[in-house]
Amino acid sequence: MVHCAICGASDVERSILAIGYKDGKIRINHGDESTPVFYICTNSDCIVEAKTNDLIGQTFGSILNAKDYLRIAQYAKLCPSQTLESLIGLSRKSGTLVLGTEGVIQKVKSGIVHLVLVEPKISNNTRHKLESVTNRVRCPIQKWTGSKAIEHILNKANCKVIGVTDRNLAQTIQENI
Ligand SMILES: [Zn+2]
Repeated sequence: MVHCAICGASDVERSILAIGYKDGKIRINHGDESTPVFYICTNSDCIVEAKTNDLIGQTFGSILNAKDYLRIAQYAKLCPSQTLESLIGLSRKSGTLVLGTEGVIQKVKSGIVHLVLVEPKISNNTRHKLESVTNRVRCPIQKWTGSKAIEHILNKANCKVIGVTDRNLAQTIQENI
């Protein structure tokens, strides 16, 4: 796990860029560990703060110019601020994730689920069951659009349905989906 050198956020919470330096040039996410690496998250506040005192340049014993920081900011914009995978991981870690169709249906009924995510390939029967209970309590239900299957992220075979019980996290996931 790596942390943003400015705000301390981990790569579970946010996308983190690894800034290296070689031959007088910065390298972003280059994967070259032989140079010192400055880890910074994609939050614009962190990039602005690093630029203000040239904190990245200081790490490399050099001086970076505005163009270098612009490149970092542009690169950061292309990254999703929080990947879906990391958000699901965060939800699981904080104990706010319900796994599996039956468990999710139960928790939705008791009103503590704020978002249901389903793999695109579930049976019609399961889909109808889920939709009827989520409709009843007005819980949003969405297709999973992450690049990795849910079962692979959670390392739990055949897990195609999950529910998020944390309201804020559910909202952030919806914004990223
Ligand atoms: Zn940060």
